[in-house]
Amino acid sequence: MLFSPQGDHVWLDTQPNSEFNVPIGAVVKESDSGRILLEDDEGKEHWITARNMHMVQLMHPSSVQGVEDMIRLGDLHEAGMVHNLLIRHQEHKIYTYTGSILVAVNPYQLLPLYTVDQIRLYCNKRIGELPPHVFAIADNCYFNMKRNKRDQCCVISGESGAGKTESTKLILQFLAAVSGQHSWIEQQILEANPILEAFGNAKTIRNDNSSRFGKYIDIHFNQSGVIEGARIEQFLLEKSRVCRQAPEERNYHIFYCMLMGMNTEQKKMLNLGTASEYTYLTMGSCTSCESRNDAKDYAHIRSAMKILMFSDSEHWDISKLLAAILHLGNFVIVLLLIQTLLDFLCSPGMTRFELQNSLTNLSIIVRGESVSRPLNVVQAANGKDAFVKGIYGQIFLWIVNKINSAIFNPASQKPKDRHQSIGLLDIFGFENFSNNSFEQLCINIANEHLQQFFVHHVFKLEQEEYIAEHIAWNNIDFTDNHQALEVIALKPMNIISLIDEESRFPKGTDATMLVKINSLHGKSNVYIPPRSVHDTKFGINHFAGVVFYESKDFLEKNRDTLSANVMQVVHSSKNKFLREIFQGLDTTKRLSTLGGQFKQSLEKLMKILEQCQPYFIRCIKPNDYKKPLLFDRELCIKQLRYSGVMETIQIRKAGYPVRYRFEEFFERYRFLLPWSLRQKNDTRQSCISISQAVLGKDESWQVGRTKIFLKDHHDTVLELQLQNVL
Ligand code: ADP
Ligand code: MG
Repeated sequence: MLFSPQGDHVWLDTQPNSEFNVPIGAVVKESDSGRILLEDDEGKEHWITARNMHMVQLMHPSSVQGVEDMIRLGDLHEAGMVHNLLIRHQEHKIYTYTGSILVAVNPYQLLPLYTVDQIRLYCNKRIGELPPHVFAIADNCYFNMKRNKRDQCCVISGESGAGKTESTKLILQFLAAVSGQHSWIEQQILEANPILEAFGNAKTIRNDNSSRFGKYIDIHFNQSGVIEGARIEQFLLEKSRVCRQAPEERNYHIFYCMLMGMNTEQKKMLNLGTASEYTYLTMGSCTSCESRNDAKDYAHIRSAMKILMFSDSEHWDISKLLAAILHLGNFVIVLLLIQTLLDFLCSPGMTRFELQNSLTNLSIIVRGESVSRPLNVVQAANGKDAFVKGIYGQIFLWIVNKINSAIFNPASQKPKDRHQSIGLLDIFGFENFSNNSFEQLCINIANEHLQQFFVHHVFKLEQEEYIAEHIAWNNIDFTDNHQALEVIALKPMNIISLIDEESRFPKGTDATMLVKINSLHGKSNVYIPPRSVHDTKFGINHFAGVVFYESKDFLEKNRDTLSANVMQVVHSSKNKFLREIFQGLDTTKRLSTLGGQFKQSLEKLMKILEQCQPYFIRCIKPNDYKKPLLFDRELCIKQLRYSGVMETIQIRKAGYPVRYRFEEFFERYRFLLPWSLRQKNDTRQSCISISQAVLGKDESWQVGRTKIFLKDHHDTVLELQLQNVL
């Protein structure tokens, strides 16, 4: 490249060999004899001499300006994408399309993008008419649900703290507003969130309001597009948090909210003090969270519970159990007789002796007879934690059911007036920590499934259809994680099924489990065996990178069982609520392991998603410090690369995301057919005539055997023309 004049925009390639480093955008500030001064996107200055000019390349004008849809980028490479997101982020433009996929960069500050006026503005607009927005995706879902009479879903993905939960709430708000009734049911659906977040979210180092469970909210609409109910499905709450928190992390919000928000009299009845007094609330040495107001949140949780038909006595029952959990945490097992605690759990049912016994003895069934042996202190403490996790997990499930019983409308399930629905999936992103365990494996498997769903839709089905319809098409390469998913979770003897099998096997241990996995998958390129017989860590080559898992405690976590006598205490307890939340949970009846249950609910979810027209929202976390206007390029490149956004651009640019059968197309757009060409009986030819008239005679749309294939913007043009004609 020749020396650039001042003001030229260029790409500067400083570290060609670093994995997550790509050329950075820069502008020429000065050029003097034989060298130029560049200022890069991060404000750093570089003098480039003639010898180093190979590091500099001229930028395409589309990258200088920035584009709303990345398929319009002239520089279609990672550097171009990340630069585009960066310059938009600096201008508070956090949303960018990649075709109809929305990339959302967390602004970490409140932007004036979500007002009632904005909702009105985005209502009933086609994608591309207005700047990219999460409301535009929501509006499109709603419009397509009504137009195509098909269920829709939004898969919202990204790392912890990337903005998935906030995006979900925004879509929900938008849908509630456009459904337009301001009815009780809409309010109930919106108010389910504060309750779920209180019991299922916590402060972590990554996110002050981190969801520790996955959820799928299915919103049901009647034939006229009015919300008539909803249903929430939850996945895999992180129960271990109730007993243990990492440094600088908190337990679930509800505990702190309760202690800050309850009145003195109620606290006295439950014998509660302040958060700092409880072992279970102080393991992370962090009881308050700067960005949250626990007392205020408590008031909100209370009012939300009223809206969702929780009775006062149900609320009190829950509070009692939460208080019991806190007291149990403080209670050193060898000094079992702490009056206050036992008064709770005992009142009026369980006797002190029974509880003491169940927590300090282990019953096992040997040849049909129950044998009881005393536990040592560590075992007793573990038993106590297991009991507490069991109680909390059941409270959470009970709450989700309670919410569903308020918002679910059975009438919407009648086949004759079958509803249409929009589902929102907000589920934990890919996790790779310094220490990964069974929970991370489950979470990452969920992400493998979702990635496969994405790949399947965006790449496979799409290309298969082009070929079947005989349209001109050059295949595009993409990274398919299908094979990895087979080895991990699908084909016979897959890794997760081996873990499960070993969990059912009474003599199975983490070590015997590893031996089995090694012998069956030791040679696979998906599985990385431990380095030696003493090493307990194994690796899995996920689509988003290799993760090493610590196999210790895998079986125990997967078995997720409460000892028989703890269950006995629960079932014979006179505390009706305690019995109620454990209803149907019987150690003997429970066949399923944690992993097994998770796998089942995941497979059910994938079936539902496959029936829907999907939308994808890729949330991006711009930095690890929860800071506004700070954009860490490497961090973003990593997220873009793993989520497949780059490959998506290529297929969206080359492909035809919108397609209609000829009859469908003719039916909808026949009014756009010029008079001179009407009254022909050839539907296919009529479709071509309409397209030529409205879209022009270029190559950017194609006619297949049974369908017409269009770009996203063609859909917009057609719909706008139709509005003008009608
Ligand atoms: P995730 O669910 O992906 O873990 P969240 O949706 O909880 O992440 O977002 C984490 C935090 O980031 C939020 O608590 C909020 O402070 C901020 N945030 C996310 N999205 C937005 C947004 N659109 N506008 C402003 N702040 C946001
Ligand atoms: Mg979340």
